[in-house]
Amino acid sequence: MARPARAHIDLQALRENYQWARQLNAGCKALAVVKADAYGHGAARVALALADQADGFAVACIEEALALRASGVKNPILLLEGVFDPTELALVSAHELWVVVHCQRQVDWILSARMAQPLKVWLKMDSGMHRLGFAPQDYRAAYAALAQSPQVGEIVLMSHFARADETDGLFSQQQRAHFENLCVDLPGARSMANSAGLMAWSPRAGEWVRPGLALYGISPLSGSRAFAAPLKPAMTLVSELIAVREVPAGEAIGYGTHYTTQGVTRIGVVAMGYADGYPRAAANGTPVAVAGQRTQLVGRVSMDMLTVDLTQLPHAVAGDPVELWGSQIGVEEVARFSQTIPYELLTRVTGRVERHYRNP
Ligand SMILES: *Cc1c(COP(=O)(O)O)cnc(C)c1O
Repeated sequence: MARPARAHIDLQALRENYQWARQLNAGCKALAVVKADAYGHGAARVALALADQADGFAVACIEEALALRASGVKNPILLLEGVFDPTELALVSAHELWVVVHCQRQVDWILSARMAQPLKVWLKMDSGMHRLGFAPQDYRAAYAALAQSPQVGEIVLMSHFARADETDGLFSQQQRAHFENLCVDLPGARSMANSAGLMAWSPRAGEWVRPGLALYGISPLSGSRAFAAPLKPAMTLVSELIAVREVPAGEAIGYGTHYTTQGVTRIGVVAMGYADGYPRAAANGTPVAVAGQRTQLVGRVSMDMLTVDLTQLPHAVAGDPVELWGSQIGVEEVARFSQTIPYELLTRVTGRVERHYRNP
C-alpha cells in the first residue's frame, strides 16, 4: 500500500516491557493483557511474540481468546469478564481457558455445567471500584460455593484498583486493605494490580500482576511517581508530508476557523486523519515530529489529513517522514492535548493503518 500512514510495532520492546513489569515484583507472575486487539497493536502478533515468556494472557471475551488459540497461542488465557452466557463454558473447557467469576449468575452457571476438567477461576471482589465483582460481604459465600464444587479447581483471589494512577495512592491503599483483610485466611494466589498498581505497589503487588498499558511501553503514572521507568513505546504511528505550502497572515487553515495564521506560515499536510484513529479533538499545538524535529498541529484534524506548522522547519519538503506518536512524541502528550488518555488513542487506530512488525 502506498499511503504512508502506518503503525510500526516493535515486538522486542514488548518483550522487554513485559520482563520489566514482571521483575518489579520478585517472584510474581504476569498476565499480559492483550484485550482490544492488544490495545491496537495486533493481539495475535503480540501474543506470539510473548508466548515463550508469558505466564498467561488476559482478554475481554471468548471471541478474543479463541482468535488467539486459532493463531497458535497455547499459554493460559484469562477471560477478564468471564463468560456472558452458560453455553460458553463448553468452549472454555475445550480450549482450557481461565475465567473471572464476578457475579452469582456466573457461579450458578459453573455449578450446573458439566466440565470435562476442573475450571481455574479468578474470583473477583468489588473492593471499591463498583463496576464488577462480589460485594465484600458476599465474597466468602461465593468462594465457599466454588471451592466445594468438583467443577472448580484452583481459585485465584482478584480485585481491581479504581485510582491506581493517582499520586497519593490513598484510595488504593484502602482498597487493598479491604481486599487483603477479607481474604486473609482464604487459600489462593492474589491478584489486584494493573500497570499502575504494579508500578506503584512494587514489590508487593501480589502473586499475579496484570500489566496492559505498561506492556505497550506507556506509563500510566503521572507526576512524581512517573519514575524513570525504562518502558519503550511499542507503537510508532507514522506518515509523511504530502504537500507543503506558504500561507499569508490572517488565513484560516483547514475546516472552519479553528486556526488563523498570525504571520506568513509554512503549512505541511500530513496523510493522517481521524479515520485513521488520530483524534479529531487534538488541539492546536499538539506536538508532531517532522523529519525528527518537533513542531505542532495547526487547524482541525480532517478525516484523512492533518496540518502542521513548518515555519520553523524551512527545509521540510513533501515526502518527509512524520511521527504522530512513538518515541519522539509521547502518546500521553497527544492524549493530553486531545482531552483523553493513551488507552483510547492506542485502541482506536483503525484498520486503514497498516501494522508493520519489527523484531519478530
Ligand atoms: C484492562 C485490565 C487490566 C490492564 O490494565 P492496564 O491499566 O492497561 O495495565 C488489568 N486488569 C483488568 C481487570 C483489566 O480489565
